[in-house]
Amino acid sequence: MVVLGIDGLSYTFAAEHWSDSARVSRLRSVFPTTSSAGWLSSLTGLDVAQHLVPGVVFADPEGSDGLINVFDYQGRDLTPARETVFTDARRLGYRPHAVLGDMETYGGSWRDALLRDADPVLGHRFYTPDAGPYRERPPELLVDLVRNALHMALAGPGHGPRLVWCYVELDRHVHHFGYDRQASRFLTGIGQLARELADAGTIVLAHADHGLTATRPDPDLAELLDASARKNGFRMGGAGRTRWLYPAPGTADDLAGELAAELPESVRLARSDELFCEAARSRVGELVLVAEGEAFLADPGYRYEHGSLTDAELDTPYAVWMS
Ligand SMILES: [Zn+2]
Repeated sequence: MVVLGIDGLSYTFAAEHWSDSARVSRLRSVFPTTSSAGWLSSLTGLDVAQHLVPGVVFADPEGSDGLINVFDYQGRDLTPARETVFTDARRLGYRPHAVLGDMETYGGSWRDALLRDADPVLGHRFYTPDAGPYRERPPELLVDLVRNALHMALAGPGHGPRLVWCYVELDRHVHHFGYDRQASRFLTGIGQLARELADAGTIVLAHADHGLTATRPDPDLAELLDASARKNGFRMGGAGRTRWLYPAPGTADDLAGELAAELPESVRLARSDELFCEAARSRVGELVLVAEGEAFLADPGYRYEHGSLTDAELDTPYAVWMS
């Protein structure tokens, strides 16, 4: 059995390309629609209230005053999640493998929790051949690299049934170019590869953590928040289209009033209690900013982002190819 984990693949785009050869149904991502929260939910079966990873930048799980970046964090208390789909697979008599793929660029406690009980397969990077800035690679080359990685994992030593999960970070491309012709050629090729494998007797699934939605940087908003942070002394966490603020103790009400008067209408200002359950709430700042339009805080090189609550971000595919 092969499971393709395709980061940043929206339901609509997957259904457009795969409906002829696969059964494609719609899943709903967790909030915030970030890779860290989404993949952990996908592979552990826990929601954010249970795995306690609310996004990328949040309060130190070990209780220091600092904020952590989940992709660098090496501490012990990141998540109470202890079992994964790989744990289940092992119990059921499968050999579980994880082709780390583009996850080789991430490390730390998050990846350890995500891939616990999987045998790692290294040396296959797709959208991130090196640590440099994103460079486009031909879609047909990317499909060949995925094919090669899957064949190697499926043909590895040992016998009996095996589960091969493979991480492909399409997200890198979509951030810069959206769901364009290159992405389309990649998905078409992946659909053909999945059909080939299914015809040869392998069950193939594909899933994703979130989609992306058109987003552009709003320099006025960035300046407003910078000026307010200097004046009020808050720090900011979150990522992409959802950010949260950690106001100094006792200043949240005043800060909320000030921001409510100045923020553009396309930015929702909420209390974290409105969006997060009690357990995750302790890691998130008191005030939350959620993008509802296209203009928000964004990397100047990006045209698409995720993290918020649009259908394009929340709707993800669950595709199945069988013989
Ligand atoms: Zn992602």
